[in-house]
Amino acid sequence: MKHIAILGSTGSIGTQTLEVIRGNEDMKVVALAAGSNIDLVEQQIQEFHPELVCIYDEKKARELAIRVQSKDVSVLYGMEGLIACATVSSADVVVAAVVGMIGIQPVVEAIRAGKDIAFANKETLVTAGHIIMPMIQKHRVLLMPVDSEHAAVFQCLNGEHHREISRILLTASGGPFRGKKKEDLKNIQVEDALKHPNWSMGRKITIDSSTMVNKGLEVIEAKWLFDVDFDQIDVVLQPQSVIHSMVEFVDGAVMAQLGTPDMKLPIQYALTYPQRRNLPGERLDFSKLAGIVFEQPDRETFRGLELAYQAGREGGSMPTVFNAANEKAVALFLDRKIAYLDIPQIIEECMEEHTNIANPSLDEILQVEAEVYQRIAGRYPA
Ligand code: NDP
Ligand code: MG
Repeated sequence: MKHIAILGSTGSIGTQTLEVIRGNEDMKVVALAAGSNIDLVEQQIQEFHPELVCIYDEKKARELAIRVQSKDVSVLYGMEGLIACATVSSADVVVAAVVGMIGIQPVVEAIRAGKDIAFANKETLVTAGHIIMPMIQKHRVLLMPVDSEHAAVFQCLNGEHHREISRILLTASGGPFRGKKKEDLKNIQVEDALKHPNWSMGRKITIDSSTMVNKGLEVIEAKWLFDVDFDQIDVVLQPQSVIHSMVEFVDGAVMAQLGTPDMKLPIQYALTYPQRRNLPGERLDFSKLAGIVFEQPDRETFRGLELAYQAGREGGSMPTVFNAANEKAVALFLDRKIAYLDIPQIIEECMEEHTNIANPSLDEILQVEAEVYQRIAGRYPA
């Protein structure tokens, strides 16, 4: 039996993880954590019987505790509760599927407690990769990528030698605005940006996909997961999202992982590795794939990608600035407080104003995050 804690159980990845668990009798949920959606967590408690639940919002947590009084479940709140779910002694694996840097501390503590990690929460690795990756080695736990591109690269690297990697090719759909120029993006509204052509995901990552900041975050994520230089990571547009990523080796051979776009595949593989298991769902129909098309990304229009490379190469606390500025800017855009093109603009300004800290500690990362938030809040009052 595999005992699983899910951080972010009400989200897109969280609910798909629960779908995977429904299909596997030897998987059991032991802990669930979410931000505030207690209606859904209440249903999840009824169905999956976790021993521990965290609702980050204290008031909502208290409300839920009253609703589930008769059940054998403890309800906690705040960062303490999140960490308790991440380290609960009965869990073998923690699915890190909260959105944003809020995941750093729980992920760090889960690794310290010896838990394997099924890892979706890319913002955590982008900002604290230099802390997390050595911990993975030290505590001898598995960090299994759930992000589809990284899961693809991981599969392409099965049985290969690290020294024989020449390049990692991350594929990108290009999002809903592929082919557009800056001029066309001026008046983009929230609704336009939330329409992703191929994937149904949470709101923040959907916006990130449209700006290509998501691909930028994934470039930095790949650097940490696969221990390669930024010069060895390329991005190629593959608008149908059929090729999930590729690896080129020193002899010129290229390995790719293909499939219909379905996050349940990387989620299940992260939970059953090194086994593969049956997964119901659509299969690729090659007779219908008229042609797999490749394009170069437009780094001028979608500046977020370029800024990510820049932040990644500078290293230190710069990726934290890139990420924190983006998190705040996306939240402001979703609240209709700023224009779409302000997102990369804000990231760039915050990066320019920042004095980089080499090898930042966890506290320094959180401090930089708070400073970036403050700076942006000063300019765009709520
Ligand atoms: P969603 O917005 O759909 O879900 C986010 C989850 O995090 C929700 O369960 C939410 O709870 C929870 N959450 C938010 N804030 C807190 C908090 N303070 N404490 C505890 N829980 C919190 O996001 P996604 O599922 O789309 O994405 C999750 C992560 O996975 C992101 O890092 C994303 O980049 C990554 N990812 C997602 C993919 C996808 O297909 N969706 C693909 C690849 C990576 P509540 O509902 O109560 O607010
Ligand atoms: Mg991805």
